[in-house]
Amino acid sequence: MTVLSYWGSAVMVSLLFFASVLFHELSHALIARRAGIPVNNIVLFIFGGMAQMEDEPASPWDEFKMAIAGPIASVLIAVVFFGAALAAALYGNRLLLASFNYLWFINIVLAVFNMIPGFPLDGGRVFRAGLWKLTGSLRRATWIAALTGQAFGWVLIALGVGSLFYPPLRAFASIWFALIGWFLVSAARNSYQQTVLKDTLARVPVADVMNPEVTAVTPDVSVQRLVTDYFLRESASSFPVEREGEIIGVVAVEDVRALPREEWELRVVADIMRPLAEERVLHSDNDAWDAASRMAKHNADSVFVTDDGRMTGIITRATIARWLSTHANWARGTT
Ligand SMILES: [Zn+2]
Repeated sequence: MTVLSYWGSAVMVSLLFFASVLFHELSHALIARRAGIPVNNIVLFIFGGMAQMEDEPASPWDEFKMAIAGPIASVLIAVVFFGAALAAALYGNRLLLASFNYLWFINIVLAVFNMIPGFPLDGGRVFRAGLWKLTGSLRRATWIAALTGQAFGWVLIALGVGSLFYPPLRAFASIWFALIGWFLVSAARNSYQQTVLKDTLARVPVADVMNPEVTAVTPDVSVQRLVTDYFLRESASSFPVEREGEIIGVVAVEDVRALPREEWELRVVADIMRPLAEERVLHSDNDAWDAASRMAKHNADSVFVTDDGRMTGIITRATIARWLSTHANWARGTT
């Protein structure tokens, strides 16, 4: 057997392993998309990837299907590689046999590891779906599943660190366990906080998180005055433009920067303002989560609350943060 064929099979195994992980993630994404949850990107990670979803699933059943899709895909791929290994054995090709044996085994490991019932691993999502169905509360279900996720993470950390000091453990554990464990602990914490945040904000009407005192400019103000009397005086990076109580656009720091300085005296706000995107307009029946997710999705620093075209308030990350800090017990509740 030549060195070249060894290298060739090493490259093939790496590519097929990478393809296996991708297939696992794509099957999550496919089911998520079918359930109407947009998946914006897929991050490949040490032990499989993570399909990043923009929102929570709508029902326990959706979550269950989405979560189980990945491990099922891994088992299916393992079966295919197992078949390939059998074929390689029949033809007496030992190098291919070793490669396919490794590939079916690693895909089974991937499926088993991901099925550990700690959120946000796939198994933890399946577990959460079950608890959600049982308790009827996504928040409580996430709390329990995330605690299990953290507990499992700590076990991995203990095994990883333990393997440094207690050699017999090295037979199956390494310091990598500690890294993966740490990743799991923090992922479980973050996912739980994300769920609680959504659950909390979705119950808060926009009126509670908005600032009703909106500073607006009129379209006839000169750009020079806009800078000195508005941008330099208030810590906002954009202002709504208002005419007779109605918002007709927004003007942001970038719009001012795009204009040569010598023209600041000559031009007015109406010349540089932009129309207000519909995504940045909320109504009084929207909730604080709508506001937060709109800002995140459109990378905007503020959204406006209107009532019949009249502006009634402005919401920024700061006004939401202020609400959360004065209602400090929001993070502790588990129901
Ligand atoms: Zn998965």
